[in-house]
Amino acid sequence: MALASDQCICLRKVEYSETSQILTLFARQHGMLRAIAKGAHRRTKAGASKFDGGIDLLDSGQAVFTADTSRDLATLTEWKLQDGHLELRRDLRGLYLGQYAGELVSMLIEEHDPHPDLFDRLEHTLPELSTPRVEETFLAYELDLLREAGYLPEWSACVSCGGAIGEREAVYFSPARGGAICRNCEGVIHDRIEIDLRLLRLVQGILRLPRTDGAPQRLPRLTRHQTNPINRLLAEHVEHTLGRRLRMAWYILADRASAGSAANPAYARSF
Ligand SMILES: [Zn+2]
Repeated sequence: MALASDQCICLRKVEYSETSQILTLFARQHGMLRAIAKGAHRRTKAGASKFDGGIDLLDSGQAVFTADTSRDLATLTEWKLQDGHLELRRDLRGLYLGQYAGELVSMLIEEHDPHPDLFDRLEHTLPELSTPRVEETFLAYELDLLREAGYLPEWSACVSCGGAIGEREAVYFSPARGGAICRNCEGVIHDRIEIDLRLLRLVQGILRLPRTDGAPQRLPRLTRHQTNPINRLLAEHVEHTLGRRLRMAWYILADRASAGSAANPAYARSF
């Protein structure tokens, strides 16, 4: 059986039997793949375990796995943890945004379709989510991911009539149409959501920023009061387009108090 070695980030994990895990891995050169880690939780008499006792969400490591893409499930044969992103455990907001970034990647890209640039961006984004730059860093990654996957909404013109978005009047967004709606069209678009024109301009500005090594430079400092309305529009757009619910979106959109008390035990436990 041919084996492949690649740098991977764990996007999703399901405990499988008492000793094994089924993982969704984002591999730098191989794209997204699903792999079974047999014996991940089994310990030897010396206390050692294969795969360092199991692999967690967002863990980054060097993996060896079976390279037969005709099979639905690869077998993980080696895992060397490189970064467990412990810094993200200090703050629920950064942790949730990191997990949400992983969920979006797992939903938006196809299996076995390599996206090394997105991989590198995610690798650099995760540590930044534990810093005061968390909000703008996440939003910039989210926009890049949507653009790369072909799901970026239209922000600069009305998606219904093609007309310009006004400078002074109200602006709307349609998750189903995937973009901005002008005031003339809003009456016939039933899922329209009114948005603050300044937020629309903010998104347009981020998308136009100069880039170094694929990452936008000089991101403005943002608060969650600015980013969450945009995150909400994008989540509704993705859910509508894919016809699937996003699990983590509603944790990051909750306010601080309820985000803490409503912590999903399944996610909290893994960190
Ligand atoms: Zn219009």
